[in-house]
Amino acid sequence: MKKYNIEKILIESLSLTRDGVGIFDPDDRLIFGNEALSTLFGIPVKEAINKTFTQLCHICFKTKKGINIEAEHFETWIDSALKKRRQHNYRTFETDTIDGQYFIVTEQIVQKNFLYMYLTDITDKKENEKKLTLMSQELENLATTDYLTGIRNRRYFYQMAQAEFSRSKRDNLELTVLILDLDKFKLINDTYGHSAGDCVLKAVTNTINQLLRNYDIFARIGGEEFAILLPSTDAQSGYIIAERIRVAIESLKLPFENELLKITTSIGMLEINDKIASFEEMMKIADRSLNQVKSKGRNQVLCGFNNNYPA
Ligand code: GH3
Ligand code: MG
Ligand code: MG
Repeated sequence: MKKYNIEKILIESLSLTRDGVGIFDPDDRLIFGNEALSTLFGIPVKEAINKTFTQLCHICFKTKKGINIEAEHFETWIDSALKKRRQHNYRTFETDTIDGQYFIVTEQIVQKNFLYMYLTDITDKKENEKKLTLMSQELENLATTDYLTGIRNRRYFYQMAQAEFSRSKRDNLELTVLILDLDKFKLINDTYGHSAGDCVLKAVTNTINQLLRNYDIFARIGGEEFAILLPSTDAQSGYIIAERIRVAIESLKLPFENELLKITTSIGMLEINDKIASFEEMMKIADRSLNQVKSKGRNQVLCGFNNNYPA
């Protein structure tokens, strides 16, 4: 068998690889490092040789280069780092540098307490992961947002409302739902055009948004239909909110071309109670009240199981 100088080949391989390689002696001084290792400590390898791991990290901390040391006091950080170092023959962990590179670091104890350190650059993988997370958040947003008004859509509303309904039932909490339908909205489209209608839908949405708390769930559930879920709200408070919304919409004067557009809204509402078995049933009863408002002349609020509201 041909004889090779394995040692020479190994050293050249370790020097040339684009993954970082370093060897620390039992006193934790760097005795070998390749160029790729300089990214981790933020200084040329020639300067890093003979320095201890602690000294190298301290340089990173002082110069704000290399390892991203997110700590106010270096001593606290290095104490905790040293507690994990050399505790096992083998360990692997992730680290990042100030300039945004990510590495998987592998440490292996060799011989008697020499530490072999091996870095794999995973920056591209991390960036792809971040992009994917952002993209899936965007997709989730697109799937739950109404394109015209920017508020939540029907799908999101039912999903959240069903969860809120179950929670309110289980914990015996108050919950009120409002369903709004703009009055004679078709007339706006027919008289001033579809873009006037769109303008009204956006203005109504903004007006309602300003009257709600951040935990209320507000969605466009149909063309000119909206639903609002009011957690921890009984019919009495719900009615006050609904009236406030009705009056605010009635008071809107929307400049469109040379006209001032006006609109009103009818509102059906219902508070949760023991007889209601599902959120769908709750919506059905609130919708029935909404239809009653429509037949009674519009621009009013009516509560299902209509005991006190309106008084
Ligand atoms: P009512 O008081 O009985 O509710 O009468 P209405 O005219 O509001 O109700 P109708 O259901 O007859 O008409 C709703 C209209 O809403 C018809 C539809 O063209 C319009 N619409 C639905 N979605 C949009 C939209 O995104 N933009 C615009 N501009 N109009 C829309
Ligand atoms: Mg309608
Ligand atoms: Mg309508």
